[in-house]
Amino acid sequence: MLSIALGAIGLGAVLCFHHPALLTTPEARGLYPIPYVRAVLHIVLVGAFVLGAGSVCLRQRKALGLTGMALTLVAAVLGGSRVPIDGELRDGPFLGLDWFLLNVIGYSAVFIPLERLFARRPDQPVFRRGWRTDLTYFFVSSLLVQVTTLLTLKPAMVFFDWARHPAVAAAVQSLPFAAQFAGILVLTDLTQYGVHRLFHAVPTLWRFHAIHHSAEEMDWLAGSRLHLVDVAVTRGLTYVPIYALGFAEAPLFAYVAFVSIQATFIHSNLRFEFGPLRYLLATPQFHHWHHAAEPQAVDKNFAVHLPVLDRLFGTCYQPEGRWPQSYGLAGGAAMPEGYLRQLVHPLRKGAI
Ligand SMILES: [Zn+2]
Ligand SMILES: [Zn+2]
Repeated sequence: MLSIALGAIGLGAVLCFHHPALLTTPEARGLYPIPYVRAVLHIVLVGAFVLGAGSVCLRQRKALGLTGMALTLVAAVLGGSRVPIDGELRDGPFLGLDWFLLNVIGYSAVFIPLERLFARRPDQPVFRRGWRTDLTYFFVSSLLVQVTTLLTLKPAMVFFDWARHPAVAAAVQSLPFAAQFAGILVLTDLTQYGVHRLFHAVPTLWRFHAIHHSAEEMDWLAGSRLHLVDVAVTRGLTYVPIYALGFAEAPLFAYVAFVSIQATFIHSNLRFEFGPLRYLLATPQFHHWHHAAEPQAVDKNFAVHLPVLDRLFGTCYQPEGRWPQSYGLAGGAAMPEGYLRQLVHPLRKGAI
């Protein structure tokens, strides 16, 4: 499996070199130290081939090893680590393949070992039920990073420009970085709390959000399972107050980095309970209860960052030292597996 993962990452990187204008993120291009990227790519491809060859020699079933070796060979034929950078760089439409590779390498390097060492459910394998579906969500949302960013920012800019005032923006931007960061955190979670509750309460919206709740095993990848409509509506609305108040870019970027790590973390299969800190910031235990199939936990713990919001609005469920027995849609409602099936599922007649 590692041979396949490394082979696929290597092949993806080679494709990024071949089509940088189409497959790389303009904001990230300046950050790549190309000689190092090539050196790492070389090690990745050699590693994938050696592991694949080892697997073919040692295992009865050759399919995994051969797939890893085949991916490596295709990457090598396309230029390997010496692949030239093709084409002019321009700022047009692009797919964030580099963004996906960076994220999948970064998150899996941190979370897979952590979840092996400190698992809440040690018997749950890395390749658990539904991992392909969730990895596809991770892949598609990374590829579409340009589209989702636009869907986040544009509605506020188009419909709420009237709500912006230069004097207010100047006052907000004069605040220290930490104060702006805290302000963004509180405001986004307040809006997000309201939107999230609506997604649970309004049947038409629940059809889309039910996809997120269909994950039956929790880990760092499970949080990626979000319908595009869910992502666009939640992020688009959450950005409105931030845009209207005119926060500065630096705390906003810091928040975006924080929320992507926090959102991954609260789904992870990690057993840390964080003592009294769990009342201040959302933890895996807090958000796992949001995903619980148990009836007493249904429609609880809507906050992404601040459990105090759920205490304030009477939706908090944080039983001392206890974790859910099972996850997924309450009542055992069925959801088809697979990205495309889930994409169209909310539009079907009689869907949840
Ligand atoms: Zn929910
Ligand atoms: Zn979740």
